Amino acid sequence: MSDDCLFCRIVRGEIPSDPVLETDELLAFRDIDPKAPTHVLVIPRAHIDSLSAATPDHRALLGSIQLAAAEVARREGIQDRGWRLVTNVGRDGGQSVGHLHYHVLGGRALGWPPG
Ligand code: AMP
Repeated sequence: MSDDCLFCRIVRGEIPSDPVLETDELLAFRDIDPKAPTHVLVIPRAHIDSLSAATPDHRALLGSIQLAAAEVARREGIQDRGWRLVTNVGRDGGQSVGHLHYHVLGGRALGWPPG
């Protein structure tokens, strides 16, 4: 847990969020600047800088995050038409918040490859 990490502050309830799903180990909440009709972030409650900082100790947590993302897609009603799960890592990956998070994107046709 980091004092000044934006997403740690959301986990602690110091910054409001629009939650979609919550468990003991993770949160899913709507992105403040949505890039698609569904744009939900799934984050671990515990601070991890990015996927590059994950270790084998995080194996179960990472599995839980993927299953939570699929549950978000079900709740959003996009599971059949399709959706995308993305985690940006570091500068070239376009990561702007240094707390591991996955974007659940859907509700429109998504381009590939990303720009
Ligand atoms: P990334 O650029 O992959 O690090 O993604 C960070 C995401 O966090 C961006 O899509 C932002 O729009 C989103 N974001 C930043 N601040 C907030 C906030 N307070 N609540 C919800 N989403 C946020």
